[in-house]
Parts: sequence; structure tokens; C-alpha cells
Amino acid sequence: MTDLLFDIPANPTIPVMGEAAAYPIHRIFCVGRNYAAHAAEMGVEVDREAPFYFTKAPSAAVASGATVPYPPGTENFHYEMELVVALGAPVFRVSVDDAAKAVFGYGCGLDMTRRDLQLAARAKQRPWDLGKDVENSAVLAPLTRAASVAGIGPQRIHLEVNGVVKQDAHLSDLIWSVPELISHLSHYYHLRPGDIILTGTPAGVGPVVAGDVITGGIDGLEPISLTLGPAEA
Ligand code: MN
Repeated sequence: MTDLLFDIPANPTIPVMGEAAAYPIHRIFCVGRNYAAHAAEMGVEVDREAPFYFTKAPSAAVASGATVPYPPGTENFHYEMELVVALGAPVFRVSVDDAAKAVFGYGCGLDMTRRDLQLAARAKQRPWDLGKDVENSAVLAPLTRAASVAGIGPQRIHLEVNGVVKQDAHLSDLIWSVPELISHLSHYYHLRPGDIILTGTPAGVGPVVAGDVITGGIDGLEPISLTLGPAEA
């Protein structure tokens, strides 16, 4: 073992329903504009040519149920409710037909976003990191193994702020399906167990402020929640 100058945190993990062992996070991929109604509310046309992605550092992960401070550097912090796909097998250049075999399980996730910074970066054709790779912005509920999940499609996906429904759609509204996303990404990365994909958000995104409680769910999966605390002094 190489001696290290100092310690850094271990990568975070996600609980798995009914199991003692947790799922360790290697990478977090996120899909942009994967529901037509959300693309429209963001003022952009859906590009059916190819999906696109951004990433969050594993250190951005936080467990469902947490209270997190309102983040620095934004005045427009948005929720995005998403289906999370967790991979359980290594795949590289996998076909769409074979991609589903790589899925370990599914969960609910929130892609919390500094919308003001994301849109400012978008307008200047700059990367989205300050808008998207926000500390505590990848909120993750416990995973359910794929074998316990009926086919992805009919499930309702929804999010509430302080009990008021803000997002309400179905997984059948996904533009790029889970196997299509895994296959496409696997042509650019050696995907492996520990890699998770946040598959995009339905329409209805909006801001939260300190004191707000976000709840969300997808039929058949563990629900998710997040409480916004005050900004740090
Ligand atoms: Mn998103």
C-alpha cells in the first residue's frame, strides 16, 4: 500500500432494499432533456439524434431523507425528480438488446440544480458544472433490485414540494429508454458496477427555498425526500 499524505472521504454508497450490503457509487452520469415536455419548458427542441450527458462527482451524493443547506452561489435552486439506474455488470459497446442485463437495480433520485448558473452557462456555450455538479445535489433513495421491478414504462413518476404536486408523469414518457441510454453511454465509457445514471426529469421543475420539503416517488420503488435548510453563514 502506498502511504497517503492525508485521508479523503470514501465514495458514498446507496442502501439496497432488503439487503445488508450497500451499493458503492463509482460514477454519476446524468441525462439531459429526456422528457419532451421538460425540454419544451426549458425552451429547447428535443434532439432525437443522440442523448447527451453531464456528470456529478460521487461526492455530490446525499442520502434521501437528509436536510441540506441551501447551496452557495445561486438564487434559483431547482428540484428535478428522476429515475436512477444502477449498473451491476461491466459493459462496453453493448447493444440495446443486451443492455438491460447490466442493470443492477432502480431507485428514485433528485438532480438538484443551480438553474440560474446552468442557464447562464448554456447561454455562453460554457460547461454546466457550476449549475449541476453541486455539493449534496445527487439525492439518492434506496435501490430496488431489477428482478423485483416490473418492466420500466407504466410507472408514475412524481414530485411534491410541501405536499403540492409539481411534477407528474410516467416512465413511458422517457425519450431515450434505459437500454438505449446504457448502450449509447457504453460506446464512450467502460461502464461498470457502481456507475449510476440519472435518466432525466419530467416537466414541472421549479425552485425551492430554505424550509421547503421535497418528496417524490416512482411506482414500485422506495420514495425519496429532501429538506432544504438555511444557507450557510
Ligand atoms: Mn436532470
